[in-house]
Formats: sequence, C-alpha cells, structure tokens
Amino acid sequence: MIPFLDLKAQYASIKGDIDAAVMRVLASAEYVLGEEVAQLEREFAEYCGTRHAVAVNTGTSALHLALLALGAGPGDEVITVPFTFVATVSAICYTGAQPVFVDVEPVTLTMDATKLEAAITSRTKAIMPVHLYGQMADMNAIKAIADRHGVPIIEDACQAHGAEYEGRRAGSIGVSGCFSFYPGKNLGACGEGGIVVTSNDSHARTIRMLRDWGQERRYHHVLKGFNYRMDGIQGAILRVKLRHLNTWTLARRAFAARYSALLAGSNHVRAPFEAADRHHVYHIYAIRCRDRECLQRALAVQGIQFGLHYPIPVHLQKAHADLGYAPGDFPISEAAAGSVLSLPIYPEMTTAQVEEVASAVEQEQEQEQEREREREREREQEAHVL
Ligand SMILES: *Cc1c(COP(=O)(O)O)cnc(C)c1O
Repeated sequence: MIPFLDLKAQYASIKGDIDAAVMRVLASAEYVLGEEVAQLEREFAEYCGTRHAVAVNTGTSALHLALLALGAGPGDEVITVPFTFVATVSAICYTGAQPVFVDVEPVTLTMDATKLEAAITSRTKAIMPVHLYGQMADMNAIKAIADRHGVPIIEDACQAHGAEYEGRRAGSIGVSGCFSFYPGKNLGACGEGGIVVTSNDSHARTIRMLRDWGQERRYHHVLKGFNYRMDGIQGAILRVKLRHLNTWTLARRAFAARYSALLAGSNHVRAPFEAADRHHVYHIYAIRCRDRECLQRALAVQGIQFGLHYPIPVHLQKAHADLGYAPGDFPISEAAAGSVLSLPIYPEMTTAQVEEVASAVEQEQEQEQEREREREREREQEAHVL
C-alpha cells in the first residue's frame, strides 16, 4: 500500500523536537497565543519576506480577516477562481461580499489573467488568485491589471508555503497572503492553524485586533471581532516544522521531477506544468488523465492511494447555486475537474515508491491501449461483415 501522505512518518522523523515544544507550552501555560505564537509570526514573516504575520486558527479565518481588513462587505465583489477548495469562496461569502469567478488557465490551472479585466466592476473590492497545488498564479499579469484598476490582491497561498514567482515568495506580492496550517498542508500543525502575512502596518493591526474580539486593549472592543486565535501548542509545533520546510520542499520537488520524467512519454496522462518563472512546491502532484475512471480503478486495485483536487468546481456546488452560475460557464475549470488526479507526494516517501506509482500509471495505460486496439479490431471485423 502506498498512502497519499504519511503524517505519522513526519512526526516520527522529528518526534524529539515536537514533544519538547509541546511540553514547553504545557509547562508555560500559554495555551492561547503567547510567546511561541509571537515567535512563529516573526519567523514566518521573515520566511515570506513580509513585515508582519498574524497567526489565526485556520486558513479560512486568514482569508476572512484579510478580506475584512480591506473593508469587504455586502455590496462588494471579490474576484476569484472556481477551480479551488471551497474555503476560498466561503471566506468571501462570510464577509457578505459576492464572489465573482474568472476561469483558470488550461495549463497551470491558476487564474487566467486574460479573463480578469472583463470581470472588474466599480464594486470590485479585491482580487483573490489561488496558488493552486503549490504553484503561484501569474502574478505579474494579475498585478498589472489590479494596479491599473486600483484593486488590491489577496493571495490564497494556503497550498503554497515557500512557493516563488520570479524569486518572490508566495504571500509577499499582494497586499496580504493567507496560509493554512491544516495537518496535510506543506507546513502543517497538529490540529488547525492559519496565518496572514502582509507588509501593510494598518492591515496587520486590524487583523490582529479582529482575530481576538476586536480588542485594542483588554475589554476595549473597537471592532466587531472573532475568536480566531491560534493555540500556543500549534505555534510551538509550527516553529519546529518551519525549520524543516525548505528540506521538505526540496524532497517534494525531487519526487515531482522523478514522476514527470517517468510520465513524460505518456499519451494517456499529462504531468503538471511548472512555469519557468515559478518555484512550485508541489503540495499536490496532479496529473491530467484521458480516462480517469479507468486509472482510478487500476490504482485502487494496486493499493495506491490518490486524490481528486477537485472533482466539482465551486460554481457548480449546490451550496453556491445562489451565485447563479451554470455548467459551461467556466469550461477550463470544468474540464480540469473531470480529468485531474493527484498522485501520492510527501517528503517522507521514497524514490522507489514514486517509481512504483508511475509504473502502475503506465501499466494502466498499456492495458488501455490494448483495449483500444481490441475495439479497433472489432470495428474492422464489423465493417468487413457489412
Ligand atoms: C486548505 C485551503 C484553504 C482553507 O484552509 P483551512 O486551514 O482548512 O481553513 C483555503 N484555500 C485553499 C486553496 C486551501 O487549500
């Protein structure tokens, strides 16, 4: 069996440091926010190349507060993509603003900047590109349009810890960037977590207040805030893991390169595309399949776990039917939803496992070709009879 990811293996590899970090917090009794969280904020801001980071309880909360700091609310529109995890869109809805979708590019599956301008109106409050699978969206093209219209960008970097665009880290190009520390993300807590990075002093201050009941100081509530605080234990754990993130990213990139080399000759699946100006961190290694159901069956038989990110684009989800979109509105997203398949990728896997997965994909493909030849022979015979 090859798992999709192995969080137990990651824990085992750094158990001593994690256990010590947890014990430190237990002894300090700083269970919510506290010094460990404050240190994490400093370290993660430095990692991203921003002036500030504000830790919160989830990536969704990070997106929600980044939007609120811009003043997003009822009557506003926020532009994003339908080919993302639903949380991107839910965070917009929480503010009362209306999500407006633009389709993704066919190759990178990130926001198609050529379709962005047509979606901007006088109500557009923010543009929220998603750095899907760990590869940043085309930020130069998006930023040029955003700047021309004076609309700020919030980066949904929940899958893109340490990703780069022309050498700049995810989260540092927009007015703010939002990350998730959900356990399975490239940098994951042992529970829930998230963070907003920004170099805007006033946004940082607002987000800091909003995550803790809108307090300026204790019991002086100047904003209608939330309880979105990060646990001290998660802060301490994330500090330990942050020290390993670059090594883990290198491992992910090496496995992705191996997969892509092994799958390069395939005419049934296509390896993901990494744009030359970007540093992909391969949170997810998603191939495109000609016949996904067939491949899913074959992988299941061989005990290889896989994922589908994501099988239904957000504009076709029942929960967001009120937005009024219909099938055919975003054909690139819809085609992607029907053909992507995510292969196992995590820093603790082995090259042998990568090779086993690639060979399983290839075998399936050979069987499919054989079935295709069989169908061809049958057609020829039928033609003969007629
Ligand atoms: C994981 C994720 C989120 C939400 O993060 P949580 O920490 O689970 O709330 C938002 N957007 C994207 C693209 C994600 O992958």
